Amino acid sequence: MIPENIRACQSTDVPICVECLNCHHKAVMESEYLLSRSARLHPDVSLVHVSRLLKCGDCGSKALKVFRPPDRDAAADFIATEL
Ligand SMILES: [Zn+2]
Repeated sequence: MIPENIRACQSTDVPICVECLNCHHKAVMESEYLLSRSARLHPDVSLVHVSRLLKCGDCGSKALKVFRPPDRDAAADFIATEL
């Protein structure tokens, strides 16, 4: 099983999907972008840990779901789907 960390996203060439559990705002971030944003992040950081460092750009909630999509198409579907 592939560990759910930033390195897994890099090695499978998928962006990281983020969804706010409060307002359901969605974002897709490239792992390189995420790593460049914070010195506290490195490729072996788990996505659960990543979720604790981020907050929603819309409502400011820190209750975020962060996950690795199976492929780029799935990431595109994720961001395109409105509730
Ligand atoms: Zn939100």
